[in-house]
Amino acid sequence: MPIEAHQDLRSAVRELCKAFPDSYWRQLDAARAYPDAFVKALTDAGYLAALIPEEFGGSGLGISEASVILEEINRCGGNSGACHAQMYTMGTLLRHGSDAQKREYLPKIASGELRLQAFGVSEPTTGSDTTQLKTSAVRKGDRYVIRGQKIWISRAEHSDLLLLIVRTTPIADVKKRTDGLSVLLVDLRAAVGNGLTIRPIRTMMNHATTELFFDDLEVPVSTLVGEEGKGFRYLIDGLNAERILIAAECVGDGRWFIERATKYANDRVVFGRPIGQNQGVQFPIARAYVNIEAADLMRIRAAGMFDRGEPCGAEANMAKLLAADASWEAANVTVQTFGGFGFAEEYDVERKFRETRLYQVAPISTNLILTYVAEHVLGLPRSY
Ligand SMILES: Cc1cc2nc3c(=O)[nH]c(=O)nc-3n(C[C@H](O)[C@H](O)[C@H](O)COP(=O)(O)OP(=O)(O)OC[C@H]3O[C@@H](n4cnc5c(N)ncnc54)[C@H](O)[C@@H]3O)c2cc1C
Repeated sequence: MPIEAHQDLRSAVRELCKAFPDSYWRQLDAARAYPDAFVKALTDAGYLAALIPEEFGGSGLGISEASVILEEINRCGGNSGACHAQMYTMGTLLRHGSDAQKREYLPKIASGELRLQAFGVSEPTTGSDTTQLKTSAVRKGDRYVIRGQKIWISRAEHSDLLLLIVRTTPIADVKKRTDGLSVLLVDLRAAVGNGLTIRPIRTMMNHATTELFFDDLEVPVSTLVGEEGKGFRYLIDGLNAERILIAAECVGDGRWFIERATKYANDRVVFGRPIGQNQGVQFPIARAYVNIEAADLMRIRAAGMFDRGEPCGAEANMAKLLAADASWEAANVTVQTFGGFGFAEEYDVERKFRETRLYQVAPISTNLILTYVAEHVLGLPRSY
């Protein structure tokens, strides 16, 4: 994917985003409300079905194109966090789901009849140490009985389906700690009130995140995706897609910040000249621009490798780290450039600042990426 490739796709997404200006996102942010109208428009235009094969009603595109869609949403001032999970969970269903599951779910997800926007991995007591997760699913005839708790499960209140990772064999009974985990595709509509309680968590930005409490929720065995006990591998398979998509969102954020900072630095006159004439103001903006462009190159490389089916764990992780750092740098620089106005809600800078801060921590924190690079790329001893 050459730089600024997919111009038609970019223009089309920007056109759609025009109907959802800054004021739309600002009002939702103030109310901590979900962007239903935006997600519906995106679904109706087919963008959220980008990764679904044409035979199931999608457009059969790759991660390169999917990432361009999310990048452009953020570049236009929106927040792809409202809907990105449909893209990054898709690979698990496509690669490991049964034919029956694909026939049942994919056409409905493509048409928007069903939303697959929730991804349940994180737990309150185990954090980044995913293999230690405690939510269990015990087989009882043709059902699994699920007990446990998840945290930070975003969009659960705005999704029909939840891709859930659980332990099906106790950790004491497996040889490797990565064994014994399984992926279930849970129908939230049937689950809520019948063993599943969803409790919203209010956060510093508008992210519709929640806590899930499983109290003997029974689901059919047919919800199992792939083989029982192999879920950790399926999870890892999907993570590269997630890293690349988030990297693209950060690149989009970064470009939004640079555009706003540049315009403001040209327009704002203090001491009789534009503030951007001062090197102390323009150099940080220029440096942030350089870093965004460099991060984008790694994202393009990772996306290309992913789409060619090449192993891209290192590149996907590095792209996510570089892009998250660059967007955060751009966010800081933009607040500084705007001076006091950077803190005023009506300029949207503080909103985007809060939104892009998340990607230093989620879906994987910067430190955990560095541990990956240190161990798996450089061959340093495992540190955790
Ligand atoms: C708004 C929001 C939305 C989210 N949405 C989802 C979602 O939809 N689904 C989902 O499953 N999860 C979701 N998450 C969870 C997210 O993936 C985790 O917060 C993230 O993986 C970090 O885990 P933790 O919060 O438990 O931090 P911890 O693992 O407790 O880590 C805390 C800090 O310690 C550092 N640290 C921990 N161990 C080490 C180590 N060995 N070496 C160096 N540093 C270390 C980390 O880097 C981090 O900075 C979301 C989180 C947020 C805040």
